[in-house]
Amino acid sequence: MVPDSRAPSRPPAHPDGSAGVRRLAQARIPTAHGELRCVAYAAADGVEHLAFVAGEVSGAADALVRLHSECATGDLMGSLRCDCGAQLDEALRRVATEGTGAVVYLRGHEGRGIGIAAKLRAYQLQDTGLDTVDANVALGLPVDGRDYGAGAAILHDLGITGVRLLTNNPDKVTALARHGVRVADRVPLLAPTHGESLRYLRTKRSRMGHLLDGLDSPAGPAGPDRSHPPRTTTTTAPAPAPAEESP
Ligand SMILES: [Zn+2]
Repeated sequence: MVPDSRAPSRPPAHPDGSAGVRRLAQARIPTAHGELRCVAYAAADGVEHLAFVAGEVSGAADALVRLHSECATGDLMGSLRCDCGAQLDEALRRVATEGTGAVVYLRGHEGRGIGIAAKLRAYQLQDTGLDTVDANVALGLPVDGRDYGAGAAILHDLGITGVRLLTNNPDKVTALARHGVRVADRVPLLAPTHGESLRYLRTKRSRMGHLLDGLDSPAGPAGPDRSHPPRTTTTTAPAPAPAEESP
């Protein structure tokens, strides 16, 4: 959509039916990894999202892109319960190093969409033995309530028509394709593990279909970049299986 300083009260919907976004402001942001352009957007539900853009991405059919779900504990405070902070830093580094691409920071995605307070309640349950999936279920909340319509709309607005998506989550590839973004490739984004995050990551692998190699090796999954074949077709998450976790 075309940026509009008159600030229409409701963003238009995209042809694919996803909610549109409204571009609010932008500024240059120097980071430890290089200079990026930060663009703020308002989604139809009022949530404000950010895109950190490197170089000229308009018209790109294979832009390196990360859609990062907000995680205050991991991104801001460096919590080792999850790999979010390390993934965010690595995504910014890769996009800045490549010189073109974007990290879209999706707010309202805290705890896979359940919110920060509910995430802390789920953490408490995990400390009694439940895994991240069962904890959400025990609270009567969705295992994954995130929607990527706003993320897709932001990519549309930036002029990105296709992406190489930095993710370990096949469901994210499927969701983006459903919103009209062509996923040319999936690029693994592996962060070093810690004792605290290992059980969580194993659950994401065994119960949520995340593609995480090396969790059983002492060195953890982080390793050289490995590109996997395009995964633009429907990906079915594996049936729930007993979590292979340490006590
Ligand atoms: Zn996190």
